Amino acid sequence: MSEPSRLVCVYRLQDPIEANLIRGLLLNAGIPAQLTGEGLVGAYSGVPKVCEVRVLVPVARQAEAERMLQGYEADRNRPSADPDWCCAQCGERNGPRFEVCWNCERARE
Ligand SMILES: [Zn+2]
Repeated sequence: MSEPSRLVCVYRLQDPIEANLIRGLLLNAGIPAQLTGEGLVGAYSGVPKVCEVRVLVPVARQAEAERMLQGYEADRNRPSADPDWCCAQCGERNGPRFEVCWNCERARE
């Protein structure tokens, strides 16, 4: 017999604040999300990556939640997913930490 209310993990991360944000997103969409592991992270505050927080949703809402989180990740990663910048002068691709083009030394815009 299947259990539609069984919880499955749809997302894991190290940041309890972000985990709460994700939970809020899911709750707003009517998905009863829960967090686990949050307290452990708090106990080690200041020491990141000691523990992970998991976002749990009922298995019946898993696909829906995963779709939402993909959209969330795409949004969140947009500024940093492609952090390289293209030189306006020569079109060369430069890493985000460079302030001038490594190829022609034109300043980043
Ligand atoms: Zn250049």
